[in-house]
Amino acid sequence: MLVTSKELTAPARARGYAVGAFNAVNMESAQAIFRAAEETRSPFIIQITQTTLAYTDPEELFALIVALGKKATIPFAIHLDHGRSFEVCMRFLRLGVTSLMIDGSLQEDGKSPRSYQENIDITRRVSAAAHAMGVTVEGEIGRLGQVTTEKEAAEHLTTPEEAVRFLRDTDVDMMALAIGTTHGLFKGRPRIAHDRIEQIAAQAPIPLVMHGGTGVPDEDVRKAVSLGIAKINIDTQIRVAFYDAVIERVHAVEKEFAETDAAGGVRKYDVRKILAPSRDSMQKAVMDRMVVFGSAGKA
Ligand SMILES: [Zn+2]
Repeated sequence: MLVTSKELTAPARARGYAVGAFNAVNMESAQAIFRAAEETRSPFIIQITQTTLAYTDPEELFALIVALGKKATIPFAIHLDHGRSFEVCMRFLRLGVTSLMIDGSLQEDGKSPRSYQENIDITRRVSAAAHAMGVTVEGEIGRLGQVTTEKEAAEHLTTPEEAVRFLRDTDVDMMALAIGTTHGLFKGRPRIAHDRIEQIAAQAPIPLVMHGGTGVPDEDVRKAVSLGIAKINIDTQIRVAFYDAVIERVHAVEKEFAETDAAGGVRKYDVRKILAPSRDSMQKAVMDRMVVFGSAGKA
Protein backbone atom coordinates (compact mmCIF):
# COMPACT_ATOMS: atom_id res chain seq x y z
CA MET A 1 0.00 0.00 0.00
CA LEU A 2 1.74 3.10 -1.27
CA VAL A 3 0.70 6.15 0.75
CA THR A 4 2.19 9.58 1.50
CA SER A 5 4.60 9.88 4.40
CA LYS A 6 2.24 12.35 6.09
CA GLU A 7 -0.30 9.53 6.35
CA LEU A 8 2.33 7.53 8.24
CA THR A 9 4.00 10.20 10.35
CA ALA A 10 0.94 12.20 11.49
CA PRO A 11 -0.51 9.20 13.41
CA ALA A 12 3.02 8.43 14.63
CA ARG A 13 3.38 11.91 16.13
CA ALA A 14 -0.10 11.66 17.68
CA ARG A 15 0.52 8.22 19.15
CA GLY A 16 4.15 8.67 20.25
CA TYR A 17 6.15 6.48 17.88
CA ALA A 18 8.39 7.19 14.89
CA VAL A 19 8.44 5.86 11.35
CA GLY A 20 11.86 4.83 10.07
CA ALA A 21 13.06 6.17 6.73
CA PHE A 22 15.56 3.74 5.25
CA ASN A 23 17.77 4.29 2.20
CA ALA A 24 17.65 1.89 -0.69
CA VAL A 25 20.58 1.85 -3.13
CA ASN A 26 20.13 -1.52 -4.81
CA MET A 27 17.92 -4.61 -4.95
CA GLU A 28 19.31 -6.16 -1.76
CA SER A 29 18.78 -3.10 0.42
CA ALA A 30 15.26 -2.53 -0.95
CA GLN A 31 14.33 -6.18 -0.32
CA ALA A 32 15.81 -6.05 3.18
CA ILE A 33 13.65 -3.02 4.04
CA PHE A 34 10.42 -4.55 2.70
CA ARG A 35 11.11 -7.90 4.40
CA ALA A 36 11.87 -6.23 7.74
CA ALA A 37 8.59 -4.29 7.57
CA GLU A 38 6.52 -7.39 6.77
CA GLU A 39 8.12 -9.33 9.57
CA THR A 40 7.61 -6.65 12.21
CA ARG A 41 4.29 -5.31 10.80
CA SER A 42 5.80 -1.85 10.72
CA PRO A 43 4.84 1.11 8.50
CA PHE A 44 7.95 2.54 6.84
CA ILE A 45 9.43 5.03 4.42
CA ILE A 46 11.82 3.83 1.76
CA GLN A 47 13.99 6.62 0.43
CA ILE A 48 16.34 7.40 -2.39
CA THR A 49 18.98 10.08 -1.89
CA GLN A 50 19.79 12.56 -4.60
CA THR A 51 23.44 11.42 -4.54
CA THR A 52 22.25 7.99 -5.74
CA LEU A 53 21.85 9.68 -9.13
CA ALA A 54 25.61 9.27 -9.49
CA TYR A 55 25.25 5.51 -8.90
CA THR A 56 22.17 4.49 -10.81
CA ASP A 57 19.28 5.91 -12.79
CA PRO A 58 16.58 6.39 -10.12
CA GLU A 59 14.02 5.17 -12.66
CA GLU A 60 15.48 1.65 -12.37
CA LEU A 61 15.55 1.70 -8.58
CA PHE A 62 12.05 3.16 -8.53
CA ALA A 63 10.67 0.38 -10.74
CA LEU A 64 12.15 -2.18 -8.37
CA ILE A 65 10.59 -0.49 -5.32
CA VAL A 66 7.21 -0.34 -7.06
CA ALA A 67 7.45 -4.07 -7.86
CA LEU A 68 8.23 -4.87 -4.22
CA GLY A 69 5.44 -2.53 -3.13
CA LYS A 70 2.84 -4.38 -5.18
CA LYS A 71 3.33 -7.43 -2.98
CA ALA A 72 3.55 -5.49 0.30
CA THR A 73 0.83 -5.80 2.93
CA ILE A 74 2.24 -2.88 4.93
CA PRO A 75 1.63 0.84 4.21
CA PHE A 76 4.77 2.60 2.99
CA ALA A 77 5.88 5.83 1.31
CA ILE A 78 8.58 6.42 -1.31
CA HIS A 79 10.61 9.49 -0.43
CA LEU A 80 13.32 11.60 -2.03
CA ASP A 81 15.93 12.27 0.65
CA HIS A 82 17.80 15.61 0.52
CA GLY A 83 16.60 17.00 -2.79
CA ARG A 84 18.84 20.01 -3.36
CA SER A 85 17.34 21.76 -6.35
CA PHE A 86 13.89 22.47 -7.72
CA GLU A 87 14.76 20.48 -10.86
CA VAL A 88 15.77 17.33 -8.97
CA CYS A 89 12.62 17.49 -6.84
CA MET A 90 10.51 17.78 -10.01
CA ARG A 91 12.31 14.82 -11.56
CA PHE A 92 11.44 12.62 -8.58
CA LEU A 93 7.87 13.96 -8.49
CA ARG A 94 7.50 12.81 -12.09
CA LEU A 95 8.87 9.40 -11.13
CA GLY A 96 6.04 9.06 -8.61
CA VAL A 97 7.45 9.63 -5.12
CA THR A 98 4.74 10.21 -2.51
CA SER A 99 7.02 12.26 -0.30
CA LEU A 100 10.08 14.41 -0.76
CA MET A 101 12.58 16.45 1.16
CA ILE A 102 13.77 19.77 -0.13
CA ASP A 103 16.99 20.51 1.72
CA GLY A 104 16.99 24.29 1.44
CA SER A 105 19.61 24.65 4.17
CA LEU A 106 22.45 24.00 1.72
CA GLN A 107 23.35 25.12 -1.78
CA GLU A 108 23.15 22.62 -4.62
CA ASP A 109 26.77 21.56 -3.95
CA GLY A 110 25.53 20.13 -0.64
CA LYS A 111 28.25 22.02 1.24
CA SER A 112 27.81 25.79 1.38
CA PRO A 113 24.87 27.07 3.43
CA ARG A 114 21.91 28.88 1.86
CA SER A 115 20.65 32.02 3.55
CA TYR A 116 17.37 31.81 5.46
CA GLN A 117 15.59 33.69 2.69
CA GLU A 118 17.01 31.36 0.03
CA ASN A 119 15.88 28.35 2.08
CA ILE A 120 12.35 29.77 2.38
CA ASP A 121 12.17 30.62 -1.33
CA ILE A 122 13.14 27.19 -2.64
CA THR A 123 11.16 25.32 0.03
CA ARG A 124 7.97 27.25 -0.82
CA ARG A 125 8.45 26.72 -4.53
CA VAL A 126 8.95 22.97 -4.16
CA SER A 127 6.08 22.72 -1.63
CA ALA A 128 3.62 24.35 -4.01
CA ALA A 129 4.48 21.91 -6.81
CA ALA A 130 4.50 18.84 -4.56
CA HIS A 131 1.28 19.73 -2.77
CA ALA A 132 -0.47 20.22 -6.11
CA MET A 133 0.25 16.53 -6.66
CA GLY A 134 -0.74 15.48 -3.13
CA VAL A 135 2.86 14.74 -2.16
CA THR A 136 4.21 15.28 1.36
CA VAL A 137 7.05 17.81 1.81
CA GLU A 138 9.84 17.77 4.39
CA GLY A 139 11.92 20.91 4.91
CA GLU A 140 15.05 21.49 6.94
CA ILE A 141 15.95 24.30 9.28
CA GLY A 142 19.31 24.60 11.00
CA ARG A 143 22.58 22.92 10.14
CA LEU A 144 22.46 19.20 10.72
CA GLY A 145 24.53 17.64 8.02
CA GLN A 146 27.87 19.36 8.15
CA VAL A 147 28.88 18.90 11.75
CA THR A 148 31.34 16.22 12.85
CA THR A 149 31.89 16.89 16.52
CA GLU A 150 29.74 17.22 19.60
CA LYS A 151 30.86 20.84 20.07
CA GLU A 152 29.89 21.82 16.52
CA ALA A 153 26.54 20.04 16.85
CA ALA A 154 25.79 21.96 20.06
CA GLU A 155 26.61 25.27 18.37
CA HIS A 156 24.24 24.67 15.46
CA LEU A 157 21.07 23.43 17.15
CA THR A 158 17.78 24.62 15.66
CA THR A 159 16.20 27.21 17.94
CA PRO A 160 12.44 27.19 18.72
CA GLU A 161 12.22 30.69 17.17
CA GLU A 162 13.77 29.46 13.91
CA ALA A 163 11.47 26.44 13.80
CA VAL A 164 8.30 28.49 14.38
CA ARG A 165 9.37 31.09 11.82
CA PHE A 166 10.22 28.40 9.26
CA LEU A 167 6.85 26.74 9.75
CA ARG A 168 5.08 30.09 9.34
CA ASP A 169 7.10 31.07 6.25
CA THR A 170 6.88 27.74 4.43
CA ASP A 171 4.16 25.21 3.92
CA VAL A 172 6.03 22.05 4.91
CA ASP A 173 4.34 18.97 6.34
CA MET A 174 7.38 17.68 8.23
CA MET A 175 10.43 19.50 9.56
CA ALA A 176 13.99 18.19 9.94
CA LEU A 177 15.84 19.73 12.89
CA ALA A 178 19.41 20.09 14.04
CA ILE A 179 19.14 18.49 17.48
CA GLY A 180 22.63 17.13 18.07
CA THR A 181 22.87 14.37 15.45
CA THR A 182 24.86 14.38 12.24
CA HIS A 183 25.07 12.38 9.05
CA GLY A 184 27.31 9.33 9.04
CA LEU A 185 29.35 8.50 12.08
CA PHE A 186 30.18 10.96 14.80
CA LYS A 187 33.60 11.56 16.33
CA GLY A 188 32.63 10.66 19.84
CA ARG A 189 29.12 10.14 21.10
CA PRO A 190 26.18 12.09 19.67
CA ARG A 191 24.28 13.94 22.36
CA ILE A 192 20.61 14.58 21.66
CA ALA A 193 19.26 17.93 22.82
CA HIS A 194 16.04 16.58 24.29
CA ASP A 195 15.04 19.86 25.89
CA ARG A 196 15.31 21.51 22.48
CA ILE A 197 13.04 18.90 20.89
CA GLU A 198 10.52 19.42 23.65
CA GLN A 199 10.52 23.22 23.22
CA ILE A 200 10.14 22.98 19.45
CA ALA A 201 7.48 20.26 19.61
CA ALA A 202 5.37 22.38 21.95
CA GLN A 203 5.15 25.10 19.27
CA ALA A 204 5.29 22.99 16.10
CA PRO A 205 2.50 20.41 16.00
CA ILE A 206 3.77 18.70 12.83
CA PRO A 207 5.88 15.49 12.65
CA LEU A 208 9.50 16.37 13.48
CA VAL A 209 12.36 14.58 11.75
CA MET A 210 15.68 13.31 13.06
CA HIS A 211 18.46 12.75 10.55
CA GLY A 212 21.66 10.88 11.29
CA GLY A 213 20.23 8.58 13.92
CA THR A 214 23.10 6.09 13.71
CA GLY A 215 25.08 5.69 16.91
CA VAL A 216 22.53 7.42 19.11
CA PRO A 217 21.88 5.22 22.19
CA ASP A 218 18.48 3.51 22.04
CA GLU A 219 17.21 5.13 25.22
CA ASP A 220 17.99 8.59 23.79
CA VAL A 221 16.15 7.68 20.58
CA ARG A 222 13.10 6.50 22.52
CA LYS A 223 13.06 9.69 24.56
CA ALA A 224 13.31 11.85 21.41
CA VAL A 225 10.40 9.92 19.91
CA SER A 226 8.29 10.40 23.03
CA LEU A 227 8.90 14.17 22.71
CA GLY A 228 7.74 14.56 19.09
CA ILE A 229 10.22 13.00 16.64
CA ALA A 230 7.99 11.06 14.24
CA LYS A 231 10.38 10.25 11.38
CA ILE A 232 13.93 9.00 11.79
CA ASN A 233 16.36 8.63 8.89
CA ILE A 234 18.65 5.63 9.13
CA ASP A 235 21.28 5.04 6.48
CA THR A 236 24.72 4.44 7.99
CA GLN A 237 23.53 1.72 10.35
CA ILE A 238 22.26 -0.35 7.40
CA ARG A 239 25.48 0.27 5.48
CA VAL A 240 27.53 -0.91 8.47
CA ALA A 241 25.43 -4.09 8.74
CA PHE A 242 25.96 -4.71 5.02
CA TYR A 243 29.72 -4.01 5.10
CA ASP A 244 30.33 -6.20 8.14
CA ALA A 245 28.46 -9.12 6.60
CA VAL A 246 30.17 -8.72 3.19
CA ILE A 247 33.62 -8.64 4.79
CA GLU A 248 32.84 -11.71 6.89
CA ARG A 249 31.53 -13.61 3.86
CA VAL A 250 34.47 -12.62 1.67
CA HIS A 251 36.86 -14.00 4.29
CA ALA A 252 34.83 -17.24 4.46
CA VAL A 253 34.91 -17.56 0.66
CA GLU A 254 38.68 -16.96 0.62
CA LYS A 255 39.10 -19.78 3.12
CA GLU A 256 36.86 -22.04 1.07
CA PHE A 257 38.87 -21.25 -2.09
CA ALA A 258 42.17 -22.03 -0.32
CA GLU A 259 40.80 -25.40 0.80
CA THR A 260 39.47 -26.15 -2.68
CA ASP A 261 42.83 -25.18 -4.26
CA ALA A 262 44.73 -27.35 -1.77
CA ALA A 263 42.47 -30.30 -2.55
CA GLY A 264 43.00 -29.73 -6.27
CA GLY A 265 39.32 -28.93 -6.82
CA VAL A 266 37.56 -26.29 -8.90
CA ARG A 267 36.51 -22.96 -7.35
CA LYS A 268 32.81 -22.11 -7.44
CA TYR A 269 32.06 -18.44 -7.98
CA ASP A 270 28.62 -17.46 -6.69
CA VAL A 271 28.14 -13.85 -5.64
CA ARG A 272 24.81 -14.77 -4.07
CA LYS A 273 26.71 -16.57 -1.32
CA ILE A 274 28.08 -13.17 -0.31
CA LEU A 275 24.97 -11.08 -0.94
CA ALA A 276 22.25 -13.27 0.59
CA PRO A 277 23.67 -13.27 4.15
CA SER A 278 24.47 -9.55 3.77
CA ARG A 279 20.85 -8.87 2.83
CA ASP A 280 19.74 -10.82 5.93
CA SER A 281 22.08 -8.73 8.02
CA MET A 282 20.59 -5.47 6.67
CA GLN A 283 17.10 -6.81 7.31
CA LYS A 284 18.00 -7.52 10.95
CA ALA A 285 19.40 -3.99 11.35
CA VAL A 286 16.19 -2.47 9.94
CA MET A 287 13.98 -4.67 12.15
CA ASP A 288 15.99 -3.68 15.18
CA ARG A 289 15.33 0.01 14.45
CA MET A 290 11.60 -0.56 13.82
CA VAL A 291 11.32 -2.08 17.30
CA VAL A 292 13.24 0.78 18.95
CA PHE A 293 11.21 3.43 17.07
CA GLY A 294 7.99 1.80 18.31
CA SER A 295 6.58 1.42 14.77
CA ALA A 296 6.68 -2.40 14.94
CA GLY A 297 3.16 -3.78 15.18
CA LYS A 298 1.56 -0.49 14.11
CA ALA A 299 0.62 -1.63 10.57
ZN1 LIG B 1 19.78 13.72 6.21
